[in-house]
Amino acid sequence: MQKKYLMTPGPTPVPPEVLSTQGEPMVHHRTPDFEAVVRKCEDGLKQIFQTELSDVLIFASSGTGAMEASIVNSFCPGDKVLVTYNGKFGQRMQQISEAYGLQVEVLEYGWQVCVNPADIKKKLEQDPSIRGVVVTQSETSSGILNDVEAIGKIVKDYPDCLMIVDSITGIGAVDCKVDDWNLDIVSCGSQKGLMCPPGLAVVSVSPKAWQAYERSTLPKFYFDFGKYKKSLDKNTTPFTPAVSLMKGLGAAIDLILDEGLDNVIARHQRLAEATRQGVEALGLKLFAPKEGRGNAVTPVWVPEGIDGKKLVSIMKNKHGVTIAGGQEQYLGRIFRIGHLGYFGDFDIITTLAALEMTLQELEYDFEPGSGIKAAEAVLMAE
Ligand SMILES: *Cc1c(COP(=O)(O)O)cnc(C)c1O
Repeated sequence: MQKKYLMTPGPTPVPPEVLSTQGEPMVHHRTPDFEAVVRKCEDGLKQIFQTELSDVLIFASSGTGAMEASIVNSFCPGDKVLVTYNGKFGQRMQQISEAYGLQVEVLEYGWQVCVNPADIKKKLEQDPSIRGVVVTQSETSSGILNDVEAIGKIVKDYPDCLMIVDSITGIGAVDCKVDDWNLDIVSCGSQKGLMCPPGLAVVSVSPKAWQAYERSTLPKFYFDFGKYKKSLDKNTTPFTPAVSLMKGLGAAIDLILDEGLDNVIARHQRLAEATRQGVEALGLKLFAPKEGRGNAVTPVWVPEGIDGKKLVSIMKNKHGVTIAGGQEQYLGRIFRIGHLGYFGDFDIITTLAALEMTLQELEYDFEPGSGIKAAEAVLMAE
């Protein structure tokens, strides 16, 4: 027997309270019992998204469904959108927009540079036909945290332009203030900071986004916001919901709100800092730039002379600790430690210990124990 640790930025570990709730016997979805679940998820998610003005809609799909929904409910064929790119998920928003025949302008930064809000401001000033700005708040592939607060403030001044945010690994790990930051559509998925299994996609829809919805003519059916809103007003869903997952989500919401959203975010901040200090003490280099590091995942350069795929595989197969490798051009060149959702101090210590043992096996030269020592110092600080 080998004890297993899941240290990836999605799917993330699921707390026992969520697992046992979703393991309860099936219920019919057109019943008062289930209507209470829908209401609980709606009210709880609004608190987690920090919104009173937006509706929060839930679909049975992976997170990408929320991303697709944010496009099809907002635009007409040929509309122009500005998509920012500093990793794999920004690129996915570009692909979805192109698949639906939008005119896509990409602001490309590379994987180690944050989106510069001043660039967005300039683009919007130059081109008043832009109908949407698309930003990934927490880029899981690169670990970058983009400043959606600053960008939201800029887009707010353009009444015909929506601020569309992928916060799939942002919500629950970093602040994401939907109302205060003027975020019109924000996507999330169940298998990240919401501590549930994969299978639910969540979007918030602002009053400005509802106006765009009324104008939009892109084809839509399953992801049609209007259908979900009409049902939500009766505490139900237009189609058969993922009953078990939604019950589990209700339990996860209780855990988040009992801890307090601010405390949840502070915990993520602390665990991310301990991870960063730990790997740097080993002499390893962080991948994401200092000015834009999120709390969900820590990407790290594989040191010179070490095989990155081998590092990830020894961690998993010999030590039972699953971390993520790099994606696309960074495959084998970086590894990523997830600490998003149901994580505590000793998940970080365990992972750093396994990393140290793996690095020793790979004959990397460093002081054993230095990583966990540095992480402990962060975790013990007041
Ligand atoms: C996980 C993730 C998604 C959604 O991916 P799915 O596999 O469709 O759930 C989107 N954006 C980001 C930033 C993510 O981390």
